[in-house]
Amino acid sequence: MTTERDSIEFDALFVGGGVSSLAGAIRLMQMAKEKAMELEVGIIEKGSEIGSHSIMNPIALQELLPDYDSLNCPIEQTVRGDGFYYLTRKKAWRVPMVPRQMHNQGFLIISLARFARWLGEIAEEMGVNIFPGFSGQEVLYGEDGKTVTGVRTGDNGLDANGKAKSNFEAGIDILAKVTVFGEGARGNLSKSLIEKLGLSSQCLPQVYETGIKEVIQLPEENFFSHNPVNDIHTMGYPLGLNVPGGGFLYQMKDNRIAIGYLTGLCYEDPGIDPYDLFMSFKRHPFIFDIIKGGRVVEQGARTVSSGGHYTIPRLATDGAVLIGAAAGIHNTPALKGIHVGMKSGMLAAEAIAEALEKKDVSGASLERYRRLLDDSWVHPEIYEGRNFAPALAMKGMKKWIHLGAQYLSKGRGIIDPLPLDADYETLRVLNTAPTETTDNMDYDGSLMVDKLTGVYLSKTQHREDQPSHLIIKDPQLCIDTCYPTYGSPCTRFCPAKVYELETDEITGQRQLKLNPSNCLHCKTCDIKDPYQNINWVCPEGSGGPGYTTV
Ligand code: SF4
Repeated sequence: MTTERDSIEFDALFVGGGVSSLAGAIRLMQMAKEKAMELEVGIIEKGSEIGSHSIMNPIALQELLPDYDSLNCPIEQTVRGDGFYYLTRKKAWRVPMVPRQMHNQGFLIISLARFARWLGEIAEEMGVNIFPGFSGQEVLYGEDGKTVTGVRTGDNGLDANGKAKSNFEAGIDILAKVTVFGEGARGNLSKSLIEKLGLSSQCLPQVYETGIKEVIQLPEENFFSHNPVNDIHTMGYPLGLNVPGGGFLYQMKDNRIAIGYLTGLCYEDPGIDPYDLFMSFKRHPFIFDIIKGGRVVEQGARTVSSGGHYTIPRLATDGAVLIGAAAGIHNTPALKGIHVGMKSGMLAAEAIAEALEKKDVSGASLERYRRLLDDSWVHPEIYEGRNFAPALAMKGMKKWIHLGAQYLSKGRGIIDPLPLDADYETLRVLNTAPTETTDNMDYDGSLMVDKLTGVYLSKTQHREDQPSHLIIKDPQLCIDTCYPTYGSPCTRFCPAKVYELETDEITGQRQLKLNPSNCLHCKTCDIKDPYQNINWVCPEGSGGPGYTTV
C-alpha cells in the first residue's frame, strides 16, 4: 500500500536543532538580508529540546551575534580559573601545568539547552521556520539516486507491530534545494548518507566518547562559593590511564554544578559500564567532598565525536552538507565542539547562500564550504589535534611518548597520521564465562541515583505502543554469539537499562529484552555493539529526553 504524503519545500533545511544548525540558520538569514534574497529556511528537531552542559569558547558567538550580551544570552558563569587533577583511588593531585588547549579562563559556562532555546528564538525572529518534534526518518534522493532532495519525517500513530492506529498520521516529505545535516554525533540520517555516498571512504573511522552528566543542586556555601577555580577536569581514577576519558565539574548559577564523566568507546574490557564509572567518580573522596549535601536535579547522556581531523568525511555532496558533530567537527584536545560546530554551520550558510544565488547546489558548488572551513580559525585548531585520538587510545608509555611528541610538534607527532580502529572493533573476547550483570552500587536516591532514577531525571518520554526504534538485525546472534563471546556488553554500556538479559525459568533459554522507552538517545549502542547488530533509528517525533539544563 502506498501512503499519501504531504510535502513542503524550503530553500535550505537544517536537520537537527542543535547550536550548529541554529548558528547556520541565523547566518543564512543574515546572508539573505545582505544579498537581498528571499529565502525559506527550515529546521526540524526530533526532540522538544536538545541539551547538554558545556564550556564554550565564545569566538563563534562573537562573530555571529557581536551584541550577544545585550540580547540576554543565557550565560551561567564565566570561567575564573581551571583546575586539572590526577586522581588515584583515594587522592587527588593537582597537575601544575594545565595543557594549553584546556586553558578556559574567560570562556563561558552555558547550559546548551538554554543556549539553544535562546538561539532558536533569535532564528525564529529572523524568519526561520522551526519544527520541534519532527524526526527525520529517511534521506530523500533525486532520480539519480545520489542528489539529496530533502528528508522524510517519521510516521506517527503506528502500533508496536508497525500497524496504523486510528490516529495515524503519515510523515511528510520536506524538500529542500540544500539539506544541512546537523544532527549531532552519530546522527542516524547523517550515518546513512555517509554510508550510502561513501563520504568517509578516504577517512579514518570516527570514534566516540560517552558522557554521563548531571546537574546537582548544592547547599549555598559550597566548594565553588569563594574559589578562584570554577572549572575542574580530572584524569585517572576510576578509568585509569589506558582508556581515554575523565571527569569534569563546572560551576553554574544558583549554587548548581554540572558534573560528568566521559568514557572513550575504544575500551577493550567488555565488563566496562560507563554509568558505574561515573558513580565511582562521584564517590571519589575529592569529588564527594565537592558534591556532598547536594541533590541531582537532572541527568543525561550523550556521545561526542572525538576522532578529529582525519575522521571528518567529505562535507558537501549534491544538494547537501554536513556540519558540527554530525561531521565530527570537534576540538578533542580542548574537549570542545560548540564553537567549531557553530562556525561550521555559519560557513556552510555562506557557501549555501552563494550556491542558491548562483542556482547551482551541486556538490562541486557546495564544496566552497570546506574551503571556507580550511581557511578559517577552525582548521588550525582541529588540525593540531589530528593525531590526538589515536594516541589517546594507546596504552602504557607508548601513549605518553606519542602525546608528548604531538604536544611539542603542534600535532604532527612521531607518525602522521596514526592509525585508528573503529570503536566496535576493540572489545576483547572474554576468557571466562560471562557473569550476569548485578547492580550492587549503593544509591541514596538523591545524590547517588541508579540508572532508572537517572532516566526519570532526564525527563525521557516515549509513547510506549510504537515500533521499537532500536532495531536488532539478528536477535539470535545476541544469544548464540555475543553472550558467550563478550557477555552481552549492551547490558552494561547502555546508561539507561534499555537492554536486559532474561532467562526463561522453564526452558532456561536466554533472551535479550528491550526497554526502548528508557532510551536517552546517546547512540552508544549503535556505536559500540561489537557486531554492529543494533541500529538506532528515530522514534516517533517528540520522544526522547526532555533536558532543560544538562
Ligand atoms: Fe543510548 Fe542505545 Fe541505551 Fe538508547 S539504547 S540510551 S541510544 S545506549
